[in-house]
Amino acid sequence: MAAKQILVVEDEKPIRDMISFGLRRAGFEVREAIDARAARAELANRRPDLLLVDWMLPDTSGLEFTRQTKRDADLRDLPIIMLTARAEESDKVAGLEGGADDYVTKPLSYKEILLRVKSLLKRIKPSLIEDVSTFPDLKVDRITKRIYRADKEIRVGP
Ligand code: CA
Repeated sequence: MAAKQILVVEDEKPIRDMISFGLRRAGFEVREAIDARAARAELANRRPDLLLVDWMLPDTSGLEFTRQTKRDADLRDLPIIMLTARAEESDKVAGLEGGADDYVTKPLSYKEILLRVKSLLKRIKPSLIEDVSTFPDLKVDRITKRIYRADKEIRVGP
């Protein structure tokens, strides 16, 4: 199985390095972006499996970037974890309402980040179930591109 790819969006290099180092050591493939504009270019280039977005970015705020990403039909279901120094409950609520799927507060521990990343990736897996549709006597598997009737495969053209 290919390594899960994570895009880290954080302008502060020491923090970015710390996060990337921890994730790479855990077997993830990591890409980095220093601001929202670079992150958008990375997203257009190749879709990662998860986004880690810092709240404080030099161009667009991480919150606004998250909102924009979640408004994009192609990226809506991309899991996002926000990183922030703000521990206030109202900011947490704003982050989650903005579309973030989870939240980690600074000072960051990469163990906590790793834990959140793994649990979020596990949490979104069940959505794959939608890739198999079942009708009263037909089962369509969009991933393997096979159709079954009464549990027997039916041969069909492309
Ligand atoms: Ca920052």
